Amino acid sequence: MLYRYGKDEKGRPVKKAVVYTKEEHLIPAYKIDPDAYKIVSRLKDNGFTAYIVGGAVRDLLVGRTPKDFDIVTDATPSKIKRIFRNSRIIGRRFRLVHVIFGLKIFEVSTFRSNAEGSIGNDFGTIDEDVMRRDFTINALYYDPIAEQVIDYVGGVRDIKKSVLKPVIPLETIFVEDPVRMLRAIKYSSTTGCQMSWALKRKIRHSAHLLSPVSPSRLTEEMLKIINGGHAFEIVSECLAMDLYMYLQPSATAMMYNNPEFEKNYLLHMKELDEAVTKDKEMRLGKKLVFLIKDFILTLTDWKKEIKSESSVGELYTKTWTECRNFVLPMNPQRTELEYAIRTALREIGVSIRIPKKGKGAGSEVPPENSESDKPKKKKKKSKKKSHKPLDMNSTALESKKPATESSVEKK
Ligand code: ATP
Ligand code: MG
Repeated sequence: MLYRYGKDEKGRPVKKAVVYTKEEHLIPAYKIDPDAYKIVSRLKDNGFTAYIVGGAVRDLLVGRTPKDFDIVTDATPSKIKRIFRNSRIIGRRFRLVHVIFGLKIFEVSTFRSNAEGSIGNDFGTIDEDVMRRDFTINALYYDPIAEQVIDYVGGVRDIKKSVLKPVIPLETIFVEDPVRMLRAIKYSSTTGCQMSWALKRKIRHSAHLLSPVSPSRLTEEMLKIINGGHAFEIVSECLAMDLYMYLQPSATAMMYNNPEFEKNYLLHMKELDEAVTKDKEMRLGKKLVFLIKDFILTLTDWKKEIKSESSVGELYTKTWTECRNFVLPMNPQRTELEYAIRTALREIGVSIRIPKKGKGAGSEVPPENSESDKPKKKKKKSKKKSHKPLDMNSTALESKKPATESSVEKK
């Protein structure tokens, strides 16, 4: 084990960070994305310091494969931009650089200072940068060329001990950024690192701070939850900590009133986790099915609707609006929500007949299976029948066709 030294106020040398060598951290070199390696290497060749940081180092140390590699450096955004032709500066306030390699985008940011707390935007040194990272397990720096992990905060020890420890003091961590509460639960679930009693209590007492957080940030977190394969644990824990009401308020309200609804909802989170683990490229619409399927059942007596041949336009519009409100503050693309609704309805044996535009005849709109499912057959079929994604503004849906032409039908 090596140490990195700095100086205290009196100029005396003090240990600042522990440096773990490859024999100690055991991160296999082949797990480092070659393009991330290239970025660090180019920055160093240009006289800057650079590290892989955050989630990737954490995931490598817990034996998971990182989904992306973030890089941090002392080069300013404009200097980074000059070094990489394949890059662009993004963000107005928090400027960082995206370096693009084919389909991969690497986030390269400049060390930030801790002068204005952990959410300020001034550039700083690595010593300051580390102090504004949320948890010790997220505050590790990896030099892929020297193959060393630089640990200022005891993150490696915490990973070994499986504890989730904040770097930022408990008094300010959630006041400065309430989304860190969701992150705490996420990392605790995905890495198995336990939160202390004090941290849990702080989260419970601070849950209300999520109320003014923007829908876009909440959506970002919610999408990470449903994409990550740990939705069951995270949603369960968010419910227990009173945080889920900010991520999915309608679902939470229904769970408060109906334990059966909660049981089924959580069961479907488990199924969602299995599905995303099997199919990493699964479209959003398929994942949304797991969120809305219980809710759709509560909307109406579908059997009765089928018998009474209700107007499909009205019924579908109502279902769509209710589902859109149900998943708020998430606001998924219309095509994805439509896909989810059709699939969820199909699962309960309801297929919707939509009148063909201009022809007046009913035509069934099946759930569009993902492109990978029987692509050729589907394409041919879709030429004959109207398999276009449902458009809520289309005249077909809004037209007041006789019930016999536009009806829901039992499969
Ligand atoms: P994942 O992307 O798997 O959710 P991650 O750790 O990579 O995990 P990011 O949101 O990509 O998370 O952020 C990268 C790093 O930036 C984190 O590891 C952490 O060090 C820091 N970070 C991100 N968001 C915050 C925040 N709200 N507060 C403090 N530090 C943060
Ligand atoms: Mg990340």
